[in-house]
Amino acid sequence: MKSVNSFMSRIIKRNPGEPEFHQAVQEVAESVLPYIEDKPVYVKTKILERMTEPERVIIFRVPWMTDSGEVEVNRGFRVQMSSAIGPYKGGLRFHPSVNLSTLKFLAFEQTFKNSLTQLPLGGGKGGSDFDPKGKSDREIMNFCQSFMTELFRHIHSDNDVPAGDIGVGAREIGFMFGQYKRLKNEFTGVLTGKGHSYGGSLIRPEATGYGLVYFVLHMLKLHQRSIDGKIVAISGSGNVAQYALEKCIELGAKVVTLSDSSGYIYDQNGIDADKLAYVMRLKNEERGRIKAYAERFGCAFVAGKTPWEVNCDIALPCATQNELLEEDAKMLIKNGCFCVAEGANMPCTPEAIEIFENNDILYAPGKATNAGGVAVSGLEMSQNALRLSWSRAEVDQKLQEIMENIHRTCIQYGYQPDGRLSYVQGANIGGFIRVADAMIAQGLV
Ligand code: GLU
Repeated sequence: MKSVNSFMSRIIKRNPGEPEFHQAVQEVAESVLPYIEDKPVYVKTKILERMTEPERVIIFRVPWMTDSGEVEVNRGFRVQMSSAIGPYKGGLRFHPSVNLSTLKFLAFEQTFKNSLTQLPLGGGKGGSDFDPKGKSDREIMNFCQSFMTELFRHIHSDNDVPAGDIGVGAREIGFMFGQYKRLKNEFTGVLTGKGHSYGGSLIRPEATGYGLVYFVLHMLKLHQRSIDGKIVAISGSGNVAQYALEKCIELGAKVVTLSDSSGYIYDQNGIDADKLAYVMRLKNEERGRIKAYAERFGCAFVAGKTPWEVNCDIALPCATQNELLEEDAKMLIKNGCFCVAEGANMPCTPEAIEIFENNDILYAPGKATNAGGVAVSGLEMSQNALRLSWSRAEVDQKLQEIMENIHRTCIQYGYQPDGRLSYVQGANIGGFIRVADAMIAQGLV
């Protein structure tokens, strides 16, 4: 613990005002520092010190014009965290909360997540404090084109391949891909999450949500349990939540909640496939609020709250970072929840995770459970490089294998001296080793 404290005080001093980055590093340091203690090869080469320093950070101005002719200025970022095992890889987030701290935490997490997939993917993340909410398609296009007009000189299919994240979906990727192609005069796989007609992989839209549920199946199987008939609480209503919900329905679970930044809906009858089709229309086309679901289907809408107060067996936080707090963790346990798996990045606070681990709740962190999205992005890169397209069944099969492998890695490194399994420890150490060994092999770079 002493070495974690001194490691963290250095991190905090060197990265002031970046609480999310400190939080992500602390969680990894708590697993990795005890692991490397008796392995001088990692200590002498200062691997963790180097991993917590981005290889490069690009910050740029993004000017654009609204439909009414107003000039707006946003800030764009790309954090190129690690290229030890492959080109920088990770999404772009457009949200008013985006700042350097958020993107450094995300890029750091991404490095471990990508390593866990076993694919050749380094770690990166980017985005802007631009708020897509309420903007017209033309304003979104103006912004995306301006953003790419700077970013294009820093990325390439062989060195940095962004994708989507919060606020960046197929529409935004399309606009950015178009602008990149125009500026560079080349048609390459420089972004993933593209539309299928211009190089996108089948199953990429579904991959994060499906992968999350595939991982949960392995967690349950280890304890001779199944998902069939279980009550599931999901937060969020975007890409990850939608496809986690779809897979849960297919496997016979009953999902009772969805949420957005204004509150959550509680549908005790369960959200079925028709209701999901409505949610997809509402969120992806009309870009409306989840409250409309409650009005349409006559169920409860709880304003200003997250879903962690409902009765459920399984909780899947799929909204955003730090959305599940200590008191939520206690409430979930009180209400019978026995499994928590993260669809979002870092949705549970450290205090909540401690509650789960101390109460023997099956808990697994996002860098393991939500890796399916970036994994299929990796498969999209392979298909683009080969200039061909794999079938849905082929990609889904590979996704299932990757999630099973990640679960196996967590088990390999996650057992603690008292015999308890910590998916946090397993994911952190499993992700660390591959990047660390590549860094050592490549010398002091
Ligand atoms: N933003 C996603 C994540 O958090 C996907 C990144 C990608 O596909 O590159 O992993």
